[in-house]
Amino acid sequence: MKRLMAVLLVCVLLCGCAPKEQVFEKSFFCMDTVMDAQIWGIDASAAASKFGKLMTALESEWDAASDDSAIFALNEGRPEDLTVQQQDFVARVQELAALTGGAFDPQLYAASCAWGFPTDQFRVPTQKELDEALAKKRWDLGAAVKGYAGQRTEELFSEMDLDRALLDLGGNILTYGEKPDGSDWRIGIRSPFNSGTVGTLSISGTMHIVTSGDYQRYFEQDGQRYYHILDPKTGRPADSGLSSVTVICRDGLVADVLSTALFVLGLEEGSQLWRGWEDTPFEAVFVLHSGEVFATEGARLSDCDFQVICREE
Ligand code: AMP
Ligand code: MG
Repeated sequence: MKRLMAVLLVCVLLCGCAPKEQVFEKSFFCMDTVMDAQIWGIDASAAASKFGKLMTALESEWDAASDDSAIFALNEGRPEDLTVQQQDFVARVQELAALTGGAFDPQLYAASCAWGFPTDQFRVPTQKELDEALAKKRWDLGAAVKGYAGQRTEELFSEMDLDRALLDLGGNILTYGEKPDGSDWRIGIRSPFNSGTVGTLSISGTMHIVTSGDYQRYFEQDGQRYYHILDPKTGRPADSGLSSVTVICRDGLVADVLSTALFVLGLEEGSQLWRGWEDTPFEAVFVLHSGEVFATEGARLSDCDFQVICREE
């Protein structure tokens, strides 16, 4: 993650038809991505400000490249330097990682560095380099921290008694509360192949919708695309036949861990994980390299042709 580049680009009071239905829009760069928020309610301005501060704080805490971050302390073998809340986050990630059978691995930082992803100095490493990098077990919570941030934001809004909000933390969506007109939130799943969408999810109330995809961060060499989601067994980009996975879950951290893990597992093993999952329930939408779309039976997907993944095989 990079340092915060611009805290606040826009913060505009868009309309105030009724005092309780003011909506603030806020957009800023944080955690290496653009974050967008629409927040409704009389406390929208204060909520937007607290949301921005929370994202900045979490960015610094979990920036592996910064020597005063919590994750740096972890990598230096000083877990006791973490606050109780930070230790709880790390412990929960480890618990979830185990439930994915190791498809989610929070210690791939050295392997990511070997490919040059954290620095944009891209190159194709040898398998020997990757094996050595994997053995180093350097912490990287990049696949979980935005989901955790979404979860913490939900808690913040709940404490503030906020009416409703729609947040985009760079591919991680949080729908908070009910839409002003009471209808479902309609969330498009971005196409991995073009600037359009592959379908639309209907979401009712508060939910986290998180996507991992091969188009989000990659480089190309000799006609081959190398992307940022790695198979922990090899340290190489996960070659599971998927272009993206979207997870819909009431828990933001679970959604984020699972979007990455399902991407590594692929359609068959990912469906099995869904069938046997006993933690916070989730639904998922898989987009294959072929363009085919598969959705678990509880995902309310429309505007596309797709095959349903049933609980009973
Ligand atoms: P996401 O976009 O949430 O899928 O997270 C991708 C990021 O997580 C990458 O940029 C790496 O920093 C890290 N990462 C890559 N592969 C894995 C993996 N198998 N398990 C956990 N984190 C990973
Ligand atoms: Mg993730």
